[in-house]
Amino acid sequence: MKMSKLMVPTLRQTPAEAEVISHQLLLRAGYIRRSSAGVYHYLPLAQRVLQKITQIIREEMNAADGQEIVMPVIQPAELWTESGRWHVYGDELFRLQDRHNRDFCLGPTHEEIVTDLVRNDIRSYRDLPLLLYQIANKYRDERRPRFGLLRGREFIMKDLYSFDRDEEGLHRTYESMFQAYSNIFKRCGLTFRPVEADAGAIGGTGGTHEFMVIADSGEGAILFCHQCDYAANVEKAESSLLTDEESFHEPLDMIVVDTPNQRTIEEVSKFLSVTPAETIKTMVYRADEELIVVVIRGDRQLNEVKLANVTRALDLSLATEEECRTISNGGKGFLGPQGLQNIKIYADREVMKMSRAVAGANEENKHVKNICPGRDFQVTFVDDLRMVEEGEPCPKCGAPLEAARGIEVGQVFKLGTKYTKALGCTFIDEKGQEKPMVMGCYGIGVSRTMAATVEQNHDEAGIIWPMSVAPYQVIVVPVSYKDEKQRAIAENLYQGMQQQGLEVILDDRDERPGVKFKDADLIGIPIRVVVGNKAIKEGIVEIKVRKSGEQYNIAIEEALQKVA
Ligand code: ATP
Ligand code: MG
Ligand code: MG
Ligand code: MG
Repeated sequence: MKMSKLMVPTLRQTPAEAEVISHQLLLRAGYIRRSSAGVYHYLPLAQRVLQKITQIIREEMNAADGQEIVMPVIQPAELWTESGRWHVYGDELFRLQDRHNRDFCLGPTHEEIVTDLVRNDIRSYRDLPLLLYQIANKYRDERRPRFGLLRGREFIMKDLYSFDRDEEGLHRTYESMFQAYSNIFKRCGLTFRPVEADAGAIGGTGGTHEFMVIADSGEGAILFCHQCDYAANVEKAESSLLTDEESFHEPLDMIVVDTPNQRTIEEVSKFLSVTPAETIKTMVYRADEELIVVVIRGDRQLNEVKLANVTRALDLSLATEEECRTISNGGKGFLGPQGLQNIKIYADREVMKMSRAVAGANEENKHVKNICPGRDFQVTFVDDLRMVEEGEPCPKCGAPLEAARGIEVGQVFKLGTKYTKALGCTFIDEKGQEKPMVMGCYGIGVSRTMAATVEQNHDEAGIIWPMSVAPYQVIVVPVSYKDEKQRAIAENLYQGMQQQGLEVILDDRDERPGVKFKDADLIGIPIRVVVGNKAIKEGIVEIKVRKSGEQYNIAIEEALQKVA
């Protein structure tokens, strides 16, 4: 490719809106442009990087028996109602209506629609396991789209869904996906760590791991152990490190931690849809900077709570009877005929101070009949929210834990039968019995991976692409393109390299060498070949390795072989 024809609108200045380095550099180096909040154009260089990453992903998914398909972005609300997620997914779901006022959404994830596909066409145990994946745009109306490609509202994801006959099958598939993910991120040249995580809104009772690219700008906090292989995100580490006392042996209706922002009870109750279940569920969430903890015990659990959207969790000790009824109804009767019995308010001192101040104010308000905490139901305040910190003993081996920050580039889930039961996705086993398929899902943020690669690979001069994902491998820079002899040598090299299958840019612009060198560094091409007067007089060109800064002279003929 000739630089004069390439659309690379580099910027001299760092755009003010960009906080993190990948956002700054991808804008400055002419890879992306913003269209609206969290929605970007990928310019030619970015598209090439994305293709490199998706090719690596494809190879690894195919090697693990994944089959690539393309699923609809537009998804009918009926499927989401069947799974129970339509009313609980919250504001992150982009909803729309067609001309007949039918509800649809833009797919933020594809569990429903893939399960619908499979339930209609797959019947026999002979067809399982089945692994289907796609690489496509996803839509999430993130509360705070930010950091460029790291948290977009339209972004590229690879999502694979696995269907197995039983838990053992799922386990094997999960292991092979785990391995494939490790291969992918290794091949992308990333330093990463798989960590144990909580299932969150996607749900499922099996295990889940997040793949975290280590970077200070990362939104995720992780804890890991050098002695053994323990690694978890902080949320998971906190729930697994709860002491016996803290892990609540007595049955509780609900534990709520208040957060500073205001939301009406009704708004919040919309998010709480609860179905009876035997399992104990603990969820510890960190939604942006606010900490929200909800723990449900006994025979009740939150079926789906999109906690990221709950900016103010309920402090039920302060709820009026009316409000409790609202919640109770909104929660489809989960509070039972007796209503609230045991509530534990698990909060830090600041929140408690606030809560008590509000309680005091409510007492003075004659219009509000307060249910009285302690009389009408039991409330226990737990002081000082426990945070797991660096240096605490590893739950596996006791060695001091270490902390790091990371960017979640992928996550693998054991879903079990959550969606297949809800949507009736069954198969006939060897004995002729009908059973729900056992499902897993596995996502990689493709556009986020590109940004994470920049977070890990850059210097003051710009991006330093790992060879495996670089948009071009080599850039040939004639010091003066106007000089006929230099131009001839440069063109020759350029063509020779292309013939060898290298991806090359020829900087054929009539610019000062300093400008061309700066651009080459900024856009991050791994190898730069400079053709100057030495090339004419001595037959020598200069090679510079972007990553190490290493520079050496080499005979023109050798340059071809050396670079290849
Ligand atoms: P996060 O915790 O960052 O909000 P998530 O856990 O909601 O991500 P998943 O549902 O696990 O995301 O989706 C699979 C992958 O898609 C994530 O691991 C991440 O790499 C990517 N991803 C999720 N949300 C975004 C986004 N808003 N912009 C870019 N990539 C994203
Ligand atoms: Mg999210
Ligand atoms: Mg996450
Ligand atoms: Mg995730």
